[in-house]
Amino acid sequence: MAASAGLDVWVWCFHCPECGFGHQELDHLAADQEIHCVVCLEEDGRLVQLHRWTDDEWAPQARLRGGLVAA
Ligand SMILES: [Zn+2]
Repeated sequence: MAASAGLDVWVWCFHCPECGFGHQELDHLAADQEIHCVVCLEEDGRLVQLHRWTDDEWAPQARLRGGLVAA
């Protein structure tokens, strides 16, 4: 887990189990260090851990791996 510094930044799709906001609502992906929901933090001062995952459609880096085409 010591991969990214500089250009090769990994990004994540995310969804907050508490407030329901995610990358689709906020229109951006989460960086590696973004593990808590900023909405819950700003609204309620709570640290809520995001549910995160990678998705080929949203993660440009994934295309570089090539090979698989989702049906
Ligand atoms: Zn939240």
